[in-house]
Amino acid sequence: MKPAMRIARHIDEIRRLVRGARADGKSIGFVPTMGALHAGHASLIDCGRAGSDFLVVSIFVNPLQFDREDDYQRYAKNLPADAALCESHGVDAIFAPDVNEMYPRTQRTHVEVEALTDHLCGQFRPGHFRGVATVVTKLFNIVQPDRAYFGQKDAQQLAVIRRMAADLNIAVEVVPVPTVREADGLALSSRNARLNSDERRAAPVLYRALRTAAGTIEAGGDPGRARAEALAVLATEPLIKTEYLEIVDFEDMQPVASIRGPVLVAGAAWLGSTRLIDNIRAEPILQGYSTSE
Ligand code: AMP
Repeated sequence: MKPAMRIARHIDEIRRLVRGARADGKSIGFVPTMGALHAGHASLIDCGRAGSDFLVVSIFVNPLQFDREDDYQRYAKNLPADAALCESHGVDAIFAPDVNEMYPRTQRTHVEVEALTDHLCGQFRPGHFRGVATVVTKLFNIVQPDRAYFGQKDAQQLAVIRRMAADLNIAVEVVPVPTVREADGLALSSRNARLNSDERRAAPVLYRALRTAAGTIEAGGDPGRARAEALAVLATEPLIKTEYLEIVDFEDMQPVASIRGPVLVAGAAWLGSTRLIDNIRAEPILQGYSTSE
């Protein structure tokens, strides 16, 4: 019988658990999260469960990656519900440190991934990706996983982590997991719970706008036109305030002037005080590519 799921609050504890699993010849899978777990996280966990012998989920709301104090303070926390979801999806161990465990002194060392963070969210959330790259480096060093699972929902984050692991020779395979959506297209997010009923009704317009841009690109349209059409879709919804809508390459997350292969269509928008992000992949069918997200 599989041993009961463990919840480690301390670094030495999770290291001990992982060391034990390794000594038994097990491969280590890792799903980093900030908690408030939903079906999107569960999809990462299921991929991790299928792809590794001993699966660790971290739950840590990382202050370093928040550019707004109110967003950090408001971030939903519910460890008992998160633990129940993890247990029902076969997680072996949760690592849920408190802030002092992760940052016992002022963090003087940071990880900065250049260029990939210049656009999209990087442009509007100063210090965000530096905070993400730094905490993920720390978590990788603590857990030392063979594979780590990240959602395509946060495509720029996925690109940053991949590049960071490659540039710093971190021995981890970064595995992308497709975005899980509601029936109306809205990407699942821990922040969706903050939407009031009018905002929730308006929210899927972001996905519709991305689909519009992707459709234009797939039909051979240029990025400028695709972007303008998507912005027009967003403008039909008065509750939405668009932050950005960009068409970028997958390697460096830089805006493209023409379509030469698969691109990422990414957007961010505000609904009241809630910020939503989403993205999809677009491939020009006319050049012999097929479409997938
Ligand atoms: P978070 O807890 O928001 O930091 O997210 C933890 C991980 O879950 C990240 O790798 C996210 O990309 C991923 N994730 C969040 N929402 C979704 C979703 N709707 N579908 C798939 N993965 C997601």
